[in-house]
Amino acid sequence: MKLIDGKAIANQIKAEIAAEVKKLQEQKGRTPHLAAILVGNDPASETYVANKEKSCKEVGMSSSVYKMPADITQEKLLETIEFINKDDEIDGLIVQLPVPKHIDVQKVIESIDPKKDVDGFHPVNVGRMTLGQDCYLPATPFGISMLLERYNIDTQGKNCVVVGRSNIVGTPMSILLSRNNPLANATVTLCHSKTKNLTEVCKSADILIAAIGRCEMITADYVREGATVIDVGMHRVEDKSRKSGFRLKGDVKFDEVSPLCEYITPVPGGVGPMTIVGLIMNTLKAFKGEIYK
Ligand code: NDP
Repeated sequence: MKLIDGKAIANQIKAEIAAEVKKLQEQKGRTPHLAAILVGNDPASETYVANKEKSCKEVGMSSSVYKMPADITQEKLLETIEFINKDDEIDGLIVQLPVPKHIDVQKVIESIDPKKDVDGFHPVNVGRMTLGQDCYLPATPFGISMLLERYNIDTQGKNCVVVGRSNIVGTPMSILLSRNNPLANATVTLCHSKTKNLTEVCKSADILIAAIGRCEMITADYVREGATVIDVGMHRVEDKSRKSGFRLKGDVKFDEVSPLCEYITPVPGGVGPMTIVGLIMNTLKAFKGEIYK
């Protein structure tokens, strides 16, 4: 069994980005800038946004956070997005999800200028991804693709099973893996809560990607010997022996599954650090005008 060290790869890529940002700053006289809108006080969202700010700093990018109260009106939120859309000094804009229930999330996503949509959630970017055109890829599937590439894990002709069909992870992951290019070309099965015989389907996977949101659901019964397993799940499980009071677990029962695998991502330290790298990479692309000229 070989562990896929997402943290190490993320640090490696961040160092590469930092070097590029430094060069670009000399040429352009400014650094890439990521803006994040945070609505409400959800502790997990606050942590995610703080981590994104920290990563920007690490690579020499600038960032700003627009904090808004949980009872902000949709109109005011859309106005702020419009304001940022027009700011030439801001290259990328994300709205941290989830937003409170009274806000129409799709409307929010569609009001972000596709050129600044570094989360890759806008229908224009999703459409371009589906057509195999240049676009901002959603950060988590983008991060997973980079991990597979850096570990030279061949996907061509392989059976890839993705469990979970969310718009931000499972569905884009299945599209990316099925594209016609040397880093994809997989035969992909996309599973969800209505899939029959999930255990057997998962057992047919050369590469199994778990993005289910159910703690340790994937046990040894779901995995064939020699498979590669990518665990996207992230769950805080109470652990009083830790200072934080919790520890992180994934959708995969690591102790049971890992001895069967050729490669496996741990939680934490697998997919998580790569998600932020995907976002930073998209912000750099936005700054360089690589996708939209
Ligand atoms: P969602 O809840 O949006 O989607 C979960 C998907 O899993 C749905 O498609 C659902 O099916 C499917 N599902 C649920 N239960 C079952 C089941 N018993 N059998 C088969 N399929 C099932 O989750 P996300 O995609 O947003 O996130 C998935 C996990 O990844 C979460 O733990 C989340 O915290 C984590 N995550 C981690 C990130 C990281 O950076 N590491 C980034 C983003 C997410 P259906 O569509 O039928 O309801």
